[in-house]
Amino acid sequence: MNLHNKVIAVTGAGQGLGRAMAVYLASKGARLAIIDLDESHMAETLRQVEAAGSTGRSYVCNVAKEDQVEATFAAISADLGGLHGLVNNAGILRDGLMVKVKDGEVTKMSLAQWQSVIDVNLTGVFLCGREAAVQMIKGGEGGCIINISSISRAGNMGQSNYSAAKAGVASMAVVWAKELARYGIRANAIAPGFIATEMTASMKPEALEKMTAGIPAKRMGVPDEIAHAVSFLLENDYMSGRVVEVDGGLRL
Ligand code: NAP
Repeated sequence: MNLHNKVIAVTGAGQGLGRAMAVYLASKGARLAIIDLDESHMAETLRQVEAAGSTGRSYVCNVAKEDQVEATFAAISADLGGLHGLVNNAGILRDGLMVKVKDGEVTKMSLAQWQSVIDVNLTGVFLCGREAAVQMIKGGEGGCIINISSISRAGNMGQSNYSAAKAGVASMAVVWAKELARYGIRANAIAPGFIATEMTASMKPEALEKMTAGIPAKRMGVPDEIAHAVSFLLENDYMSGRVVEVDGGLRL
């Protein structure tokens, strides 16, 4: 896919990796549909997209809500004249041990804590992927969907909810590659390691330091390194059904 003038939607593009992806793709001439919860964060992404030489439009949408996702993807196609790519990037963390014993008391990860992450990181990816596929099929020009998974898909302590969702979105990309190839739509996933964003800035400094020491590259990744992988997957028409790991060599 030549990105020039193509319409690419990025969820969770109000900050972090999503913003870096939007700006990187804008620098290659793509037009951006920026999806997030916060209008003011998206306004800054839009400013950076325009500074990179392209155009875009923002859409306030909770990716976990079916009615909002359906309306948003229909609006993107109508406003921007089609849809050629989607990066399913929006995600949240609500870490905790499944069960924990403190001072002889057993506490549990609540169903709400489990469900909140599944709703955004798994159901949200399903809903956006489904609606993007509908619009791409209607447009008749094919397309490409990228699910942002994580190194945690292998199973990371304290992340029952997050690891389960990230394994799920990696396998959904493989399913979609098989189901959607007949419409000229490719699907892939990216499993980043630890990347310096607002999400990782919320980790305790001791935990960050310990984690960085275990990375063969001896540093965290930067958002542009993930944006670069996104661009590669969109552009390379023979990449489909794969999970690309971008993690500085780290294995959990
Ligand atoms: P981030 O800085 O927290 O950004 C996530 C964005 O998603 C925020 O703008 C957030 O909006 C938005 N969002 C959250 N829930 C949403 C919802 N229901 N609907 C729409 N938008 C929603 O995170 P990040 O570090 O850039 O991570 C981006 C993706 O990469 C996530 O899927 C994450 O799991 C994955 N990932 C990150 C790393 C890393 O090291 N950073 C590693 C592996 C995978 P608000 O801020 O307004 O809530």
